[in-house]
Amino acid sequence: MQREYSLIINGEKVAGGRGTFDVLNPATEEVVAACPYATVEQLDAAVDAAEAAFKTWQYSSDEERKAALHSIADKIEENAAALAEVIVKEQGKPLFLAQAEVGGAVAWTRYTADLEIPVEVLEDSENKRIELHRKPLGVVGSITPWNWPLMIAVWHIMPALRTGNTVVCKPSGLTPLNTIMLAEIISDVVPAGVMNIVTGESGIGSGITGHDKIRKIVFTGSTPTGQAIMRNAASNLKRLTLELGGNDAGIILPDADVDAIAEGIFQTAFLNMGQTCAALKRLYVHDSQYDAVCEKLVAMANAQQVGDGMAEGTTFGPVQNRDQLNLVAELVEDARANGATVLCGGVQPEGKGYFYPPTIVANATDDMRIVAEEQFGPVLPVIRYTDVDDAVARANATEVGLGGSVWSSDLDNAQKVAQRLECGTAWINGHAEVLPHAPFGGCKMSGFGVEFGQEGLLEYTVPQTLNINK
Ligand code: NAD
Repeated sequence: MQREYSLIINGEKVAGGRGTFDVLNPATEEVVAACPYATVEQLDAAVDAAEAAFKTWQYSSDEERKAALHSIADKIEENAAALAEVIVKEQGKPLFLAQAEVGGAVAWTRYTADLEIPVEVLEDSENKRIELHRKPLGVVGSITPWNWPLMIAVWHIMPALRTGNTVVCKPSGLTPLNTIMLAEIISDVVPAGVMNIVTGESGIGSGITGHDKIRKIVFTGSTPTGQAIMRNAASNLKRLTLELGGNDAGIILPDADVDAIAEGIFQTAFLNMGQTCAALKRLYVHDSQYDAVCEKLVAMANAQQVGDGMAEGTTFGPVQNRDQLNLVAELVEDARANGATVLCGGVQPEGKGYFYPPTIVANATDDMRIVAEEQFGPVLPVIRYTDVDDAVARANATEVGLGGSVWSSDLDNAQKVAQRLECGTAWINGHAEVLPHAPFGGCKMSGFGVEFGQEGLLEYTVPQTLNINK
């Protein structure tokens, strides 16, 4: 029997006022479960509950909030198997990756629990003491995408709760079920109204971003949606953390050991079937190594077992939704029509499911859509260069700047090159690795603000300077 899913408003499980919508399994196109469809009035009720709960939650002690987050982490662990299964069924990723996502959710929750909220002493003289305190903002609106739905919800919600804010979360309508399960877990631990979840599409997202009682929006998703949110959030000057799209370049320097780095390149380009914000999305390879790199990547792509994420042996799942699949196929066809060579993949298999095999596109050029646009799927365009300075200029010749990487055996030189990349995180001999203690965010049109670490935590606070005349 299908499990029932509800909104959570003021600690209560509530049916959607607009009924339900179906959540589909991208591997089978069958319905996973019905998800409640909230009305705008229910959103208002959730915000009212969060605002009321903030009156007391903001004064809860650090110890209380740390203990709450650890208790939430315990319960995520207890429910790990069920969460991972739902993630596979609605998101599509293979089970081992969904298990890693749940493990990451636990690790991030515990790390965030243990962070401290500092009080800085700016002056302590005979007559005066000045302290800088950090206070919570109020109701935080969290809006999440469909690629790493549980992990990203945890990234949004845990620092908000740790710092004494209350939350209204709206997950992507494509993958809402695991986040409802997370919200149930959190609601069992925190007082009523501290954690609320409303699912549904039209009007709910914009209702959150325009809501006068919401003080901050943390959003992970595409750049156009981020721009709409920023416009809408101006009404009451909401604080914003915007983690938006990227089109990360990786540059292999001529001295790199191709055998040593090929696996890392493949894994970080195709992580989560390429549906990862900071996946490697454009690969620049020196002319002298171009054929060797392509050959290695094709061998790794051909070794993948594409299939349903729940099936034994699957290493590579479907694209999450039909629109994204169509975009990926369109970009590959466009590249082919403009002279690129599809070395492997590039053909949709027959039958049900949004499958697309890992695809390596050689002889790609910067003017092709597959390079110029964020493909966000299982494709890697490989681009030839002859001069490192030129490769850096081409890597930077984009409006977005989330991540970037340099691959080399000479770490000093690689660092010099990496520091010239216009992006929020530059990796050397790696890519797409995010860690709870390393601030992560974008520059240019990949957004602003960071998540993780002390800096990420403090984005959920407002400074208050306390000026004491002794
Ligand atoms: P999306 O922008 O379409 O949707 C994200 C969320 O915003 C969903 O919950 C959606 O319902 C909601 N939404 C849509 N329109 C809205 C509006 N007008 N107001 C408020 N909310 C609205 O993004 P997506 O397709 O779900 O995710 C893929 C994108 O997310 C890619 O561009 C990817 O790079 C980006 N992403 C970025 C990061 C990062 O950390 N920078 C991480 C993951 C994904």
